[in-house]
Amino acid sequence: MTVEEKLEAVLAPAGIGKYGFLRPAEIPFDPAVRAACEGNTCRGYGATWACPPGVGTFADCRARCLSYERALVFSVSYPLEDSFDYEAMRAGMLDFKKVCDRLAEAAGPIVPGFLLLSNESCFRCRTCTYPEAPCRFPEKLHPSIEGYGILVGQLAGLAGIPYGVPGAVTYFGALLFSAQHIS
Ligand code: SF4
Repeated sequence: MTVEEKLEAVLAPAGIGKYGFLRPAEIPFDPAVRAACEGNTCRGYGATWACPPGVGTFADCRARCLSYERALVFSVSYPLEDSFDYEAMRAGMLDFKKVCDRLAEAAGPIVPGFLLLSNESCFRCRTCTYPEAPCRFPEKLHPSIEGYGILVGQLAGLAGIPYGVPGAVTYFGALLFSAQHIS
């Protein structure tokens, strides 16, 4: 069984149906995505260790991703009553965090040293330690995929999964891994 087959076996139990694999060199990075973060419309910028500038520079993030051999891109869609259904959007966002936690737990024994990028910011603690002290749970910290400067729409297309689903909000994550990773 290959590493990819082992990972595929844990995806459905984690709650993931749509996914694809690619090489980190194929990931579409764009500094404009980081520039958009600085606009702080999501209020995540400078608020936790999961977002810029806490995740490091654009170059750092890109280099970190490129240090792995493979990337698993995945998504989960959550139905909305209408395009103003912010309650369902937030519930989906928080559920996707749990999906990422389950994937991280299952992936640990298969691909130790992985990097898991998740949607948006980090909501694990009532109050984040950023920037006064280190993250309380670095082993459970899943940095923002947008905060890493990745064009998620293009990434989805390259991974062969739909970017959007009609009547739903879709969240994306990426698991960077190597058969044996030395960080
Ligand atoms: S786990 Fe806690 S301390 Fe770490 S980034 Fe998230 S909210 Fe901040």
